[in-house]
Formats: sequence, structure tokens, C-alpha cells
Amino acid sequence: AARVAGLVREFAGRRVLDHLDLTVGAGEFVALLGRSGSGKSTLLRVLAGLDDTSSSEVSGTVEVPGSVAVAFQEPRLLPWRSVRENVALGLRTDADVDHTLAEVGLAERTDAWPLTLSGGEAQRASLARALVREPELLLLDEPFGALDALTRIAMHDLVLDLWERHRPGILLVTHDVDEAISLADRVLVLDEGRIVADHAPGPRPRTDVGALRATVLRELG
Ligand code: ATP
Ligand code: MG
Repeated sequence: AARVAGLVREFAGRRVLDHLDLTVGAGEFVALLGRSGSGKSTLLRVLAGLDDTSSSEVSGTVEVPGSVAVAFQEPRLLPWRSVRENVALGLRTDADVDHTLAEVGLAERTDAWPLTLSGGEAQRASLARALVREPELLLLDEPFGALDALTRIAMHDLVLDLWERHRPGILLVTHDVDEAISLADRVLVLDEGRIVADHAPGPRPRTDVGALRATVLRELG
């Protein structure tokens, strides 16, 4: 579904992505781990078409499917539009918007202004905006970071359920090794500008993930 080959991204001459290769197969759920500042969000911005690929600081091959949706690390809701309008933005039909907002637990907040939301509510609104589009490629940049443990588990279930029903390719950036191992088909580690590890946690449900967790933690340094 999505393929990146030899991707180089520099900022003022400082190389962040260094000939990075990555594939997210159609319908594949991939998690991406990496230390803070390793370039995860930079990679997602390139995949989302939000980076300036005409710049001399970006080179390599990037192929993505026709429909891509992103939930950003910071929710980025338009402050002068209601939660519902933010989620519906650009959609031709609003049929599923209220349903999706209910699924992320925001049924009571659909008419609220984004500035009145808590951090976790804003994150869930941003997640709803990405999910409702049912894209071929779903890019999720730490979408569960601001959530309490119970809400996070509910959002895991929601994303897995959507993935099973519509089979988008998913690239999920997370700092949570257990989350990556329990959700994804493949767990990648980004370090020094490249993918340095690519694990397949095996069939679900995953009950004994201790050994893989230890390996990944070692790779994360
Ligand atoms: P985190 O886990 O903290 O979100 P990350 O892996 O997402 O980190 P990026 O945001 O991709 O990291 O940033 C990678 C590096 O590129 C960082 O050193 C960052 O300062 C730098 N960087 C990112 N965007 C820019 C920019 N627009 N201008 C200059 N440097 C940038
Ligand atoms: Mg980031």
C-alpha cells in the first residue's frame, strides 16, 4: 500500500532520515517505535504529503495510496469550528460523523468548541476525524498518549475493530512497546534515520510478549 525507499530528510543540513526504507502492505498494521527526536513524526509528515518534497533537503521514493488520513501528535483542530464540523470537514456526507464521535466517547461533546476540550478529548476528536474517512492508509502519531488507561484500552479496541472491518494499512507511532506488540502485525524500530529492526509478534491474542519486549527495549537503546 505504502512504500518509502531511500528517503533522506535533512533540516538545515542535519540529517534526520538517512536512506530510510519502509513498506506498509495493503491492510497491514505496522507500529513504529523510536526514541524522541528519532524522526517518527517527520516520516509521517512525508507519507501524509505534508512535507515539501520539492526541497533539496528531501529525496527518495515515496509511494502512498490515493486516500491517506492522519491523526497528528497534537490534535490540530480548527478552533472556530465545532467538534462535529472538525470531524466532518471535507466529507461529502456526514452520516457517520456522529456515530464515530460516539465510538470515541464524545457523543456529549459534538457541539463543543475545540478549545473547551480536555487534552484526551481533543486527541479522541482527532482520532475520530481520521477514522471516519476510512482511508486506505491511516497514519496515527501517538494517538493515545493523553488518555487514561481505561480509555486507551477502549481506543485500542476501536482501532483494531476498524482495522478488521475496513483493512486499511495502518502506521502507528507510539512510545509504548507493549501497545505496539499487542496491536501491530509488524513492530519497527527507527534509529539513526533508518529502520533498524522489524519484528512480527505472531498470531493474536499475544499472551507471552516478554521476550520480544526485552529485545525491542534493547534496540531502543
Ligand atoms: P517525538 O517522539 O518526540 O515526537 P519524533 O521521533 O517524532 O520525536 P521528529 O519530530 O520527527 O521526532 O523530529 C526529528 C528531528 O528533526 C528532531 O531533532 C527535530 O528537532 C527535527 N525537526 C523536525 N521538524 C523540524 C523542522 N521543521 N525544522 C527543523 N528541525 C526539525
Ligand atoms: Mg513525534
